[in-house]
Amino acid sequence: MTVNLNQIAEMDRNSVLHPFTQLKDFASGKMGDPTIVETGKGIRIQDAHGKELIDGFAGLYCVNVGYGRTEVAEAISRQAYRLAYYHSYAAHTTDELAILSDRLVKMAPGKMSKVFYGMSGSDANETQAKLVWYYSNLRGKPNKKKIISRERGYHGCSVVSGSMTGMSFYHDHMDLPRAGILHTGAPHHYWGAEAGETEQEFSKRRADELEALILREDPDTIGAFIAEPVLGTGGITPPPQGYWEEVQKVLEKYDILLIADEVITGFGRTGSMFGSQHYGIEPDLITVAKGLTSAYFPLSGAIVGEKVYKVLEEGADRVGAFSHGYTYSGHPIGAAAANAVLDIVEKEDLPGNARAVGTYFQEQLKAKFAQLPIVGEVRGVGLMGAIEFVADREKKTRFKPNLTVGARVSKAARERGLIARAMPHGDILGFAPPLVTTKAEVDEIVSIAEAAVRAVMDDLVRAGEA
Ligand code: PMP
Repeated sequence: MTVNLNQIAEMDRNSVLHPFTQLKDFASGKMGDPTIVETGKGIRIQDAHGKELIDGFAGLYCVNVGYGRTEVAEAISRQAYRLAYYHSYAAHTTDELAILSDRLVKMAPGKMSKVFYGMSGSDANETQAKLVWYYSNLRGKPNKKKIISRERGYHGCSVVSGSMTGMSFYHDHMDLPRAGILHTGAPHHYWGAEAGETEQEFSKRRADELEALILREDPDTIGAFIAEPVLGTGGITPPPQGYWEEVQKVLEKYDILLIADEVITGFGRTGSMFGSQHYGIEPDLITVAKGLTSAYFPLSGAIVGEKVYKVLEEGADRVGAFSHGYTYSGHPIGAAAANAVLDIVEKEDLPGNARAVGTYFQEQLKAKFAQLPIVGEVRGVGLMGAIEFVADREKKTRFKPNLTVGARVSKAARERGLIARAMPHGDILGFAPPLVTTKAEVDEIVSIAEAAVRAVMDDLVRAGEA
């Protein structure tokens, strides 16, 4: 069947239910035709009309090794020819899966023991919740089941992971959050701190609030705390000084498991292999996805620490088999893709690149944007960063939502050839380019972003809004 681009657009509009899309605007054509993405190389993608865009967001913070890596494509193809599929239930495995798991357990922070595989960050966090409940049941603590996450945290959009996510945008009209998932304050100093409060003081206050929530609910009912080392979709916000130290003290005191959601921060983005290593976090459970395969194949993992695994194994005589698994758990093509990606991450020292080029990137963002009258905060770590726009820097007031400043800047950047994401919580322009990005490419990204921000700023000034 040969089809032209108009037919593809029409078939798409008629038949695809697009995630996170205003359905009526799309159906009516108000959003224009869908962008048909056709090829990618390095940090760039190209659409079917030949228009090239710099992907300053690595897809959705996931194509860490960049587009068009033939080593990964070949590993996928080799495995597909050799054995496209076999399951990993009841003591079956493949060489790629065993090798990948051995690698992950050794490279992950803390004392990790096993990896359970899924296909997405959401399902991996769903698995983490079930592991917490299972662990508490086996320990004879059937009430220790509630999970605390944070406002502005993002952990997915399935039923439990969507409940863990701490933004109403992902809950409203979807009957979330479900019972048993609680939220505590976001570690965002810029918006959350009281006048004159230092980062350290603010961190201590957040930890005190967490402790108060635990005591209010009863510590015997709290099973786990889940958090991203660096708040991602909630605004790309590195933790304030002392935050992780203070929070971990509280969790330890009340025997509460710590799940580090490393879906974005895993495999180099912060400049360390894992965000946990960057911030001195000692998790009991770790969630990985995205960078694990650089999105060349859907694969996620719930990495289980020794402390939890031991209880699971010891309980097996009492409860029988571990009754959880997906058809695609440990998919051999996913494992082959992950091994090929991790070879690149290690050989090219992508955490090192994220550290070196990331430092330059953060400096450039600060230099070009921090002093602009519509910019409240520039923040980030490694190769993830954000610019937050405000109507009044002194008073820290937000722009009126109907001005859609974040979305306008993102659109202006795109018109100039750069994808940078308008984050869903406030007027925030987010960046998370592939970890192979060079300094010269940072210059390109920053200069296009600057032109876009200045264009929107000029419009706002003309309209008397800034
Ligand atoms: N956790 C974090 C920290 C994420 O950023 C995301 C996705 N943005 C998820 C979980 C969910 O992953 P997925 O979209 O693959 O389900």
